[in-house]
Amino acid sequence: MVKLSDLALFYKAKNIQSGCPTCGKSSWVLADAPDEQTAWSLASVREDGNAVFPSPSVPVIAMVCDHCYTLRTHASLPIREWLKANKA
Ligand SMILES: [Zn+2]
Repeated sequence: MVKLSDLALFYKAKNIQSGCPTCGKSSWVLADAPDEQTAWSLASVREDGNAVFPSPSVPVIAMVCDHCYTLRTHASLPIREWLKANKA
């Protein structure tokens, strides 16, 4: 599970601006996953309307602006790999 302090290291190293694109504040809260065995993901949908279960998906780190509730996501797998390689 990626923590906000881990993301702060990643943001600093990559020179990522932390301001919310909607309100400009920099107060983010990690969106709580349903449980410790479950992560958020962006699910795919078929363009023909048919369902595939489980649908292919991209695991994400989901954050919510603590001021205006804008949702921000990052692909979690490359960030986890970056943290493994770069976290002291
Ligand atoms: Zn905001």
